[in-house]
Amino acid sequence: MLPIVNESLCDRCTGLCCHYITVEIDKPRTRRNHDDIRWYLLHEGITLLIAQGRWLVKLPTRCRALAADCRCGIYESRPETCREYSTDNCDYFTAYEGWDMDYVEIETPEDYEKYLAARKRKRPASSASKPAKTKTDSKAKNSKAKTAIQKKKTTPKKQTKEK
Ligand code: SF4
Ligand code: SF4
Repeated sequence: MLPIVNESLCDRCTGLCCHYITVEIDKPRTRRNHDDIRWYLLHEGITLLIAQGRWLVKLPTRCRALAADCRCGIYESRPETCREYSTDNCDYFTAYEGWDMDYVEIETPEDYEKYLAARKRKRPASSASKPAKTKTDSKAKNSKAKTAIQKKKTTPKKQTKEK
């Protein structure tokens, strides 16, 4: 059989990276921050990604521009985030090729507790610190998150989907 020339990896994909957005949040430092994350994770489908020191909330949602054939319906005018995303290390490989994830994905408040406990065990005693009880303003935090949702998707999205 002749090799397929100029095939994009996206041609073999169902548009995995077009089925969610992510919103970057500050690394949690206070009890309130941790409690807010617990709140996010109480919602079905919401997950927390921790990747290279970045903390992101992942919200599953299908892009309105994704066409029925799983190609981008607005390729020429797709958002910058989509342009910047590369197939080099994209969702395709973890979903279809079984590659190990280079990030942690947490699905439930219980798993978040376990993650924190494991992280605490790994840390030397001197650097383990309790989250401080501060007057973190959750309203401010939430409004920041909403603004971020409106403004951008912070996880890189794909670039190679062709018309
Ligand atoms: S960039 Fe990767 S995950 Fe996104 S559509 Fe292309 S192959 Fe699929
Ligand atoms: S490339 Fe971007 S704009 Fe196009 S379908 Fe995917 S997420 Fe939507």
